[in-house]
Amino acid sequence: MITVGHLINGQIVTDTERTQDVFNPATGEVTKQVALASKLTVEKAIAAAEAAFPEWRNTPPIKRARVMFRFKELLEQNAERICQMIGEEHGKIVHDAMGELQRGIENVEYACGVPELLKGEHSKNVGPNIDSWSEFQPLGVVAGITPFNFPAMVPLWMFPMAIACGNCFILKPSERDPSSTLFIAQLLQEAGLPNGVMSVVNGDKEAVDTLLHDHRVQAVSFVGSTPIAEYIYRTAAANGKRCQALGGAKNHAIVMPDADIDNAVNQLVGAAFGSSGERCMALSVAVTVGDATADALISKMREAMTSLKVGAYQDKSNDFGPLITRQHQQKVIGYIDSAEEEGAEVVVDGRSIQVSACESGFFVGGTLIDQVKPGMRCYKEEIFGPVLLIVRAQSMQEAMQLIDAHEYGNGTCIFTRDGEAARYFSDNIKVGMVGVNVPLPVPVAYHSFGGWKRSLFGDLHAYGPDAVRFYSRRKTVTQRWPSSGVREGVEFSMPTMK
Ligand code: NAD
Repeated sequence: MITVGHLINGQIVTDTERTQDVFNPATGEVTKQVALASKLTVEKAIAAAEAAFPEWRNTPPIKRARVMFRFKELLEQNAERICQMIGEEHGKIVHDAMGELQRGIENVEYACGVPELLKGEHSKNVGPNIDSWSEFQPLGVVAGITPFNFPAMVPLWMFPMAIACGNCFILKPSERDPSSTLFIAQLLQEAGLPNGVMSVVNGDKEAVDTLLHDHRVQAVSFVGSTPIAEYIYRTAAANGKRCQALGGAKNHAIVMPDADIDNAVNQLVGAAFGSSGERCMALSVAVTVGDATADALISKMREAMTSLKVGAYQDKSNDFGPLITRQHQQKVIGYIDSAEEEGAEVVVDGRSIQVSACESGFFVGGTLIDQVKPGMRCYKEEIFGPVLLIVRAQSMQEAMQLIDAHEYGNGTCIFTRDGEAARYFSDNIKVGMVGVNVPLPVPVAYHSFGGWKRSLFGDLHAYGPDAVRFYSRRKTVTQRWPSSGVREGVEFSMPTMK
């Protein structure tokens, strides 16, 4: 059986002391093993990155950008192969994987503009014959730790910009679907990146803790669940590292009485059940304003959900695939059970779905639950499955208070025809990414991505302009060249413009 290894200093290496099963979640079969890096293996990657840094830092930004141009072409040429790898190990349908990859490629395109993005700020004559400028220097060795649900896109949020800014990058991808991520890193190597600038270490807590504690690692980007994000942020900060840690979500959509219900239903079905709900921007709660809105929405949702097609990744006619593991499937079913036990009404039940030829797969069908109340476990926690909750509110104010009171603040959306209501909502809601009649308001690559509250720990958001700032350090130089023969006496007071 194949063991997925690491990419260190341009070579694939495999330490097999500890390994973990990789599944095809549609069949439940173990298809590969993944090597779990030891502390020593991670330290080798850090040493290779440190050795590569001086030369890479001094490589002109335009040359670093040219590597990204070639990388983009290789990603496009190998798109089908990458998406197949994603499908085999994550389970998402090929068209969905293509969307994920395209969103990732857009981050590479943005990084191709790095010479422009790294331009500093210059002021002539801040004093007599004194000039001052700010420039943005790379940090050194930086690390990224990524989740299973976007094995291509989320790593691509991080390393193209980090590397284009002149850093050396160590990626610790999810151990649950490691193959596409490793292959993508090999493509970057093929694009002409010098050895050591990009390493991939597969692994678990041991690898992550090594990155968090090693003094040579200057910054850590993390995307994953909130408890781990909080741990990463605290540990990195305690060790003096720059850190951004993006966590979990509970994304609400408000459905107003004036909304185009057919449109809202179409958008909700895709945003709640696409990728089996395993997206941090999945809409998992619809807050209806007024009972008539709730009744109309539920009736149309019930109808729309009868045609949902669930199955394996290869069949493009499927809408979504399995969950990532058996354990996660059982967890999602547990949330549906708990909702029922706490008094909610399961309107469409995906718990006992059968998928032909995939009887042992980790599937849960699309599930719709009405009469959900804020105190219920299914409402308070992130389910990360194809489950849409309906919470009935009587006014927009009540709906907004619910959203503001939730511990997560990643994404949200309002369905309405009322411009004034939409403007008030987007201005005042305490959530980082807002959609108006747009269910998944994932910012494009030249904006930045991030939630509020317990969906993000750190100051800067991921990718886009914030990533340029995250992966660089400002230096301000003030310079004077005294004209020959002129020398001043000693000055003891704070220099000012006289
Ligand atoms: P996870 O937190 O279990 O794992 C994320 C990463 O952390 C993996 O690389 C994993 O190996 C590592 N990790 C896990 N346990 C660890 C530990 N105890 N110590 C150190 N490292 C550890 O998350 P997941 O299940 O892979 O991904 C799903 C979660 O990610 C969801 O909560 C989802 O909302 C979130 N997510 C958030 C965003 C965002 O942008 N906010 C994007 C994608 C996913």
